[in-house]
Amino acid sequence: MNEFTFKTPDSANEAVRLNVAGPSRFLAGGTTLLDLMKCNVETPQQLVDISRLTTLREININSGTLRVGALVRMSELAAHPDCQRQAPAIYESLWQAASPQIRNMATIGGNLRQRTRCAYFRDPETFPACNKRHPGSGCSAIDGINNGHAILGASEACVAVYPGDLAVALTAFQAQVILRNAQQQERRVPVEKFYLLPRDTPDQEHDIADDEMIVAVEVPLTPALVQSHYLKVRDRASYEFAAASAAVGLEMQGETIKDVHIALGGVATIPWRAYEVEEALRGKTLNETLIRQAAERAVTNARALSHNHARIILVPRVISRALLSVGKLT
Ligand code: FAD
Ligand code: SF4
Repeated sequence: MNEFTFKTPDSANEAVRLNVAGPSRFLAGGTTLLDLMKCNVETPQQLVDISRLTTLREININSGTLRVGALVRMSELAAHPDCQRQAPAIYESLWQAASPQIRNMATIGGNLRQRTRCAYFRDPETFPACNKRHPGSGCSAIDGINNGHAILGASEACVAVYPGDLAVALTAFQAQVILRNAQQQERRVPVEKFYLLPRDTPDQEHDIADDEMIVAVEVPLTPALVQSHYLKVRDRASYEFAAASAAVGLEMQGETIKDVHIALGGVATIPWRAYEVEEALRGKTLNETLIRQAAERAVTNARALSHNHARIILVPRVISRALLSVGKLT
């Protein structure tokens, strides 16, 4: 690990001011950043410890919107009764992530900025070629062992999967990231747009400037979110990232699907909204055949690498199972 200075600001404004000065990173729960520093993927010269900023640790519901401060712990949000009752997909995405110990440390802001688990990315000494670490150096995964890599949203430069769970649920239900800069100006970015496709710049992952900090996340408590579900399929039942996941929500009018929201995790380079599937379902009568046919649309433009074709088969099944469950057809 490289040497670094350690700053402990008293306010969010001071934190942002300190962070712009030099190669610097915010330290929240540290569960991602310190790992990446130990394997020399991240080498900041300064850490700005924001973990004590209690003003960013509130959970509120106002005018039908759930607002969660950036420093709320994953376990705190998962334990919140309103989250469990009114946003089941968000609750389920949280408690199925990582381990209880990690969820007790990890924050919502840090979770949104977690980086890929691509094994080549995390091992710079053995695999120097990684366009995400060193633009222009190549990609060790494209011709490597890529069974855990993306079938959607990949580019010639990078095929790494976005690994998180919460952002998938937030993408499905049109949440916004609230950013604040040193001039105290706030900017709102839909979570869906916060994640950048790799294209030919996979090193740029998030729509956030150096002088901005995540202060909160807001999600509208819509009827589809109230009737929602997050299904996570993985190689073992706990403490594992998704092989494929789906956040789904339905708003019904009698037997008719009035509104539907679907996003996918574990299979794309960013949290992936399945618009084609939503369009095939909206306004139709809910039934199992319709769901299974519509779910196939999610992989129409999917592209398999040498070792990950199984994910193309898995995705429609995960979507179908999640929708059958939330539509009470199982
Ligand atoms: P930190 O490590 O403190 O920070 C992470 C990054 O975010 C840093 O770059 C930091 O500078 C930046 N950052 C932090 N806060 C802010 C802010 N307010 N504004 C701007 N930038 C900020 N996640 C899942 O979703 N699902 C899983 O199944 C899962 N399994 C895991 C298993 C293991 C073994 C581990 C180690 C992690 C796992 N995770 C999983 C990831 C975990 O959820 C993240 O490590 C955690 O959420 C990061 O939060 P943190 O507060 O510790 O962030
Ligand atoms: Fe690096 Fe992306 Fe290739 Fe992984 S998939 S080695 S992160 S460029």
